[in-house]
Parts: sequence; C-alpha cells; structure tokens
Amino acid sequence: MLSTYLGQLVSAVREEETLYECRHCGVSIEDDVTTCPTCGSTEVAQYELE
Ligand SMILES: [Zn+2]
Repeated sequence: MLSTYLGQLVSAVREEETLYECRHCGVSIEDDVTTCPTCGSTEVAQYELE
C-alpha cells in the first residue's frame, strides 16, 4: 500500500505543464518522443506553461 501511495505521489509531481509540438506539421507529441510520429521531423518545439 505504501508503494502505491508513493507511486501516485511521484506521478503527480512529474505532471509538468509542458507541451511538445512538431514545428513542421504542428501535431502534439508525447513528452518522451523526440521525433514527430506524423511527419518524422525531429524539430519538436517545447512550450513550458507557467
Ligand atoms: Zn510533424
């Protein structure tokens, strides 16, 4: 039970307000992907929201 609680806590902390978007086609991208799955571009824009 303790490990479950810690897992939820860590996932909450990791939830950062960061958006990733392909500069080439503008599609939203998962935060752990550096290559656009749609067009294959590696030009991924990163937006950090405050
Ligand atoms: Zn793209």
